[in-house]
Amino acid sequence: MNAVPEIARRGIMLVVSSPSGAGKTTLTRNLLEQEENVGLSISVTTRARRASEIDGIHYRFITKRRFEAMRDGDELLEWAEVHGNYYGTPREPVETALGAGRDMLFDIDWQGTQQLYAKMRTDVVSVFVLPPSAAELRTRLERRAEDSGEVITRRLRNAAEEIPHWNEYDYVLVNRDLDKSFTRLRAILTAERLKRVLKPNLHSFVAELLADLRKIDG
Ligand code: 5GP
Repeated sequence: MNAVPEIARRGIMLVVSSPSGAGKTTLTRNLLEQEENVGLSISVTTRARRASEIDGIHYRFITKRRFEAMRDGDELLEWAEVHGNYYGTPREPVETALGAGRDMLFDIDWQGTQQLYAKMRTDVVSVFVLPPSAAELRTRLERRAEDSGEVITRRLRNAAEEIPHWNEYDYVLVNRDLDKSFTRLRAILTAERLKRVLKPNLHSFVAELLADLRKIDG
């Protein structure tokens, strides 16, 4: 028999949600840097760009009018209003990636996760990241000098609304230690990639294996 080829599979939609400041951005950035075959779903948003952000890399920053046109034209897989701004996931890049066996990472909130579950349940693997304590969450938000005091207060309030959704997720990470949380996030991705249901070609692979076994036996 020839060398065993990698068995083709459909891509995974790896959704990571958390309140702002729980460490999600660092975890997902590390994952993108260190894992092959994972792309980031770039959301569209109507929120103002932060100084550190690049259009087309962190988000595609668009007007409310354009957002509404995309939403009404069914160009978004999911969308939500968060902190008074609109955010949404463009459909086309996701469908292309999954069909090509490429995994996609989504940094979206619980509202978006619920919509993806409703539409694409077997494709979605979801992870919720919790901060180790309320005090630590506050400290982390304050350390991020880009946001004003008013924004920080709003984000803390929003955390209290986001956190109760933790039990709608497949996996939960309490982010006490970034390295440990990252190892766990990677382990989740590795295990999920091995799931039988993702590999339709396994049927023909196993059929061939059995046929070859019979020949050897024969
Ligand atoms: P930020 O403004 O801090 O970048 O993001 C605020 C929140 O919006 C975060 O919880 C983030 O996960 C969420 N978010 C970002 N993009 C999307 C999206 O496309 N859809 C949904 N539903 N939430 C998003």
